[in-house]
Amino acid sequence: MNIKTIGVIGAGQMGGGITQVAAMNGFNVIMNDVKIEFANRGLATITKNLSRNVDKERMTAEEKDATLERIKTCVDLKDMEPADFVIEAATENEPIKFKLFQDLDEICAPDVILATNTSSIPIGRIAAQTKRQDKIIGMHFMNPVPIMKLVEIIRGLATSEETFKTAWDLAKKFGKTPAESNDYPGFIANRILMPMINEAVFCLYHGIGTREDIDTVVKLGMNHPMGPLALADLIGLDTCLAIMETLYNGFKDTKYRPCPLLRKYVEAGRLGRKTGHGFYEYK
Ligand code: NAD
Repeated sequence: MNIKTIGVIGAGQMGGGITQVAAMNGFNVIMNDVKIEFANRGLATITKNLSRNVDKERMTAEEKDATLERIKTCVDLKDMEPADFVIEAATENEPIKFKLFQDLDEICAPDVILATNTSSIPIGRIAAQTKRQDKIIGMHFMNPVPIMKLVEIIRGLATSEETFKTAWDLAKKFGKTPAESNDYPGFIANRILMPMINEAVFCLYHGIGTREDIDTVVKLGMNHPMGPLALADLIGLDTCLAIMETLYNGFKDTKYRPCPLLRKYVEAGRLGRKTGHGFYEYK
């Protein structure tokens, strides 16, 4: 399959990152969001990242301009029609993703693979929204996408071998290292990472340590590059809560119950870096 144009749904931190990496690797990208200001914000972040690359002499100004020229933005999902391969990176919310896949199934040519960057929703549930279950696959990029090497590749029950191979090869063309995970809530990455973050929030909730102490213990004691509370702020507390809900509902095991403090922060709109306030404050 000759993939030239990638459709990316969602221009947030993941959609923007995927768009940047795809365009840097020579693909044309159509990046969609629900409002033009969201798409423009995503494009502004990409422009800033690329300018930083030029300043650090990782790319030339000409390469930056050529990369930006390969990116188009849109708010109408119908503009995804020319895409040869679509990667959905909209908000981690089942009804939103279900509707997107129902619509993409109508809009995109029948041979187009529709991938989802979901952190935790089973691929089979998303695939069931379409009439092309063999062409639905999980491509779970890590945050920040331009820096992190891993892409988890997850096949649903009906995903074809050809779809799997195309997604695997595409991850490599993006300069990433793919790893396969079976289709269960949270896959491998968030089955391990998110309960650790949730437990760190419980430590704060139970007053076992301050946010700084909890993060320092994990950073220096376990040699993690970031503490779990700072990492939760980077991921987005709404996304962390959504993943814990998916694990909890998927396994019906109380060990995955989200910490009430995490829920409280999300309900108050403290979503982490993206809103300027999570466990820490950001300018
Ligand atoms: P985000 O909140 O930064 O961005 C989500 C974007 O999707 C927003 O711009 C929003 O306007 C847009 N959106 C919502 N509904 C839409 C629709 N119907 N059509 C088009 N756009 C729509 O979230 P994010 O962190 O970029 O997460 C996106 C996806 O990536 C989620 O599924 C999340 O679980 C997954 N993911 C997140 C991380 C992370 O660390 N944040 C890591 C891996 C995967």
